[in-house]
Amino acid sequence: MWVDGRDGNLMVSSRYLDRGNRVDVYLDVIHELVHVRQFMEGRELFDNQYRYSARPTEVEAYRYAVQEARRLGLSDERICEYLKTEWMSDRDLRELATVVDVGC
Ligand SMILES: [Zn+2]
Repeated sequence: MWVDGRDGNLMVSSRYLDRGNRVDVYLDVIHELVHVRQFMEGRELFDNQYRYSARPTEVEAYRYAVQEARRLGLSDERICEYLKTEWMSDRDLRELATVVDVGC
């Protein structure tokens, strides 16, 4: 799931919608809707002067997703599992988790 940086459209893999974990898909929607708002505000979503886990637009989107995860009652362990993505190193995961106050 991602936001197209050209037009701000929310893009979703139908395979992910069909097979992804329901909670992960829901939290991704929260995360990506923050990016849609950021796009509408004219912000640069893919500012490469920052690493992914330190990019202000990503940190903000993850903060909202984590806030919603906590509202759902998810444990830090489960939220940490959600934060971990295949393109993020362990170092980046730890950095992001610290910034969004999740114990990983
Ligand atoms: Zn993002």
